[in-house]
Amino acid sequence: MDSRWNDADARDAIAQFAGDPHSNEDVALRVYSSRLIGAEPSLVLHGGGNTSVKTQLIDDTGARVDVLCVKGSGWDLGDIAPAGLPAVRLDTLTVLRSRQALSDEDMVNAQRTRLLDAGAPNPSVETLLHGFLPAKFIDHSHADAILALVDQADAAAICGRLFGGRLAVVPYIMPGFALAKLAAETAEANPDCEGLLLLQHGLFTWGASARESYERHIRAVSEAEAFIAASASGPDSQSLDTDDRAVALDIHAASLRGRLARDPAAGGTQRPYFLDARTGPAIARYLARADLDAVSQRGPATPDHVIRTKATPLILDSLDDLAELDARLAGFRDRYRAYVDRQRTARPERVIQPLDADPRVILVRATDSTPALLIGVGTSPKAARVAADLYTHTIEVITAAEQVGRFQALPESDLFDMEYWSLEQAKLGKRSPRRLEGHIVYITGAARGIGEATARSFAKAGAALFLVDREAAPLEALAAELDAAFACFDVADPAALRASVDRCVSHYGGLDGVVSNAGYAPQSPIAACPDAVLRASFEVNFFAHQTLASAAMCVFEAQGMGGYLLFNASKAAFNPGAKFGPYALPKAALVALTKQYAIEGGPIGVRANAINADRIRTRLLSQVDVEKRAAARGLELDAYYRSNLLGREVSAADVADTFLHLATAPSTTGCVVTVDGGNIAASPR
Ligand code: ZN
Repeated sequence: MDSRWNDADARDAIAQFAGDPHSNEDVALRVYSSRLIGAEPSLVLHGGGNTSVKTQLIDDTGARVDVLCVKGSGWDLGDIAPAGLPAVRLDTLTVLRSRQALSDEDMVNAQRTRLLDAGAPNPSVETLLHGFLPAKFIDHSHADAILALVDQADAAAICGRLFGGRLAVVPYIMPGFALAKLAAETAEANPDCEGLLLLQHGLFTWGASARESYERHIRAVSEAEAFIAASASGPDSQSLDTDDRAVALDIHAASLRGRLARDPAAGGTQRPYFLDARTGPAIARYLARADLDAVSQRGPATPDHVIRTKATPLILDSLDDLAELDARLAGFRDRYRAYVDRQRTARPERVIQPLDADPRVILVRATDSTPALLIGVGTSPKAARVAADLYTHTIEVITAAEQVGRFQALPESDLFDMEYWSLEQAKLGKRSPRRLEGHIVYITGAARGIGEATARSFAKAGAALFLVDREAAPLEALAAELDAAFACFDVADPAALRASVDRCVSHYGGLDGVVSNAGYAPQSPIAACPDAVLRASFEVNFFAHQTLASAAMCVFEAQGMGGYLLFNASKAAFNPGAKFGPYALPKAALVALTKQYAIEGGPIGVRANAINADRIRTRLLSQVDVEKRAAARGLELDAYYRSNLLGREVSAADVADTFLHLATAPSTTGCVVTVDGGNIAASPR
C-alpha cells in the first residue's frame, strides 16, 4: 500500500477549511489525512476506524483551550469534515485516567459534557484511548492485512518479529475505559514505539504531524502485506483482490427472503430483509476451500463486525434445494439461540433482550450452473450492502491469516459482549418503523404525474423502490433523488417487463408490491377505430398490467409473504365517454383483472386493488385535448378540473395517498377506490 500524501492537496485542505469555526490548520490536516485513510477500503469500511488531533480552539468565553478533536459517530473517514471531529476539552478528560474504573454510560457522559459544541455528534467510543496517549496526531484502522496478523494464536510473536519494538502489542479488551488505560500504559512501557497493535482489533499509529502518523500507518500495513505475500504457498493463494461484483439471484432470492422472514421460533412475526449478492474470484476460491466449514465458523475478523455480519455466516450447497435451505437455516438459528442462552446464563446480573437469530451473511457454494455466492442480509438495502462489504474483507483477512498461520477469532464470550454492547447497538439506530419499512415496491409510469407522486409518497413511507418509465431523463433524476433502482423501457414489451421484475428481485432480494400505473389514452369512435389502435391500447392498458401482475405473482408465491397488486384503472372503466372506447375497453378489462387476481391471490395473501381516478393534471391527455373537453362542457380549465361533487381539484398526490392506503390495508382486496372528487356516474359501488 502506497502513501497517498500530497503536499499540494494538504495545503489546499488548509485553505479550504480556513474560515470553518470548527477548524484550524491542525484540524484541516487531520481532515485531509483522515480522508486518505477513508479512501482505502482495505483500511476502513463503513464508519470503521477513527482519527484524532490534539490542538487548541477558542471556547465561548473567548479562551484558547486544549482540545482533542476526534472522529464523531455517524461520520465516515472517507468524507469527514471538521464538524465530524468534535472538540473535547482535553485537560479534564486526561484527568479521568486516574480513576479505577468508569462505566460505559459514565464514559459517554464524560465525553459529551466536555464537548465545546453541545450539538456535536457523540465522540468515538475510542475517545479516551486517543486522549490518554500523548501524541498530537493519532490514526486508527482495522486494516485487513493487520487483522490477518493479529487474528493468530501467536500474534504477539509474529508481530514482534515483523515490527520489532516499533509497534507495541496490546491484548484484546473491548473498547472503553479499561482499553484506553491499558493502551496508554503499554505506550509508556515502550517509549520508542510509534504505534500499537491491538490483538483481534486493529492498528494505532501516531506522530507529531499528520503526515508522520499517516505514513507510519501506511508503512505498517505495507509491511504486513509484504509479509503475507511472502507467506503465500503458491500462485493460487494470492488473495487481496476485491473484484466482487453484483450477481443476478432471480427467483431464488424470493424463496430465500421468504424463509428468512419466517422464523417459527420467533412467534410468527415476519421480518422483511434485503439481500445483496456478490460473486468473483476471491469469493469462489474461498468457498472452494476444503476447510470452509471449519475456518468460516471460527468467528469474525474483528468483533466490530459482529453487529452487522453476526459472528459466523450460514453456508449452503445450493439455493435450489429448499429442504436443505430450511434445515440449515433452522440449524443456524438454533445455534445462535443456544449461544445467546449460554452467554446470558453467564451474566445473570444483566437484563439482555435476545436479538433476532437470522444470518446476516450467507455463503452458497458453486454448482454446475451457478457461481459461488456471498449474500449480505440486512433490514435495509444499505445494511445488506454493508454486511456483504464487510464479509468480502473478512474473506481477505481469513485467507491471508491462513497463509501466515492459523486464523483465530475471539472466544464467543468476547463476541457476545461486543454484539450486545449498548454502545454498539446504538450504532444501528433505533427509530420507529415507517409504514412501508422493509417493503420492496415496483412502480410503472414512475417518472411523471401519478407514478411520480406515488414514488415520492412510498419512498417517504420507507419503501425501497424499483421505478420504470420509458422517459430516461426524468426517470434517472427521480431514481437518484429517491435512491431507487430503475429500468427504462416501454411496458408494451412483455419480455422487458418480465426481465425488469427479475432485476428488481435480484437487486433487492424480493418484491412486496406493485403499482401498475403506466397508461395512455388513444381516442377514436369505436366503429371507425383501426384494429391496430385498439390492439396497441390493449397492449399497454391491459396486457402490460397482466404481464406485470403475472410476473409479480411468481415472486409472491416463491416468497410466501403475501403481497399487493395496485392498478391504475380509470373512471372510463365505469363511465365511458364518446370516442374514448380504445381507452375505456382495456380499462374495463383491467377492473375485471383486478377482481380475478383478488380471487386467485387471496389464498396466498396477495391483495389486488385498483384506483379509479379522474381529471388530474397529468400528461395522459394533451393540453389541447383537455381544453377541448373543458370547452365542450362550457368550462374554463380550472373550473373543469373542479367540476365534481366536492368542487375540488384532485391532485396526483391524492391518488398517491390512496395507493399508499391500499398498500397498507390488510383486509381490503378486489376493491376499486374512486379518487375523482365525486362522480356518481363513475362510482363503482
Ligand atoms: Zn477500533
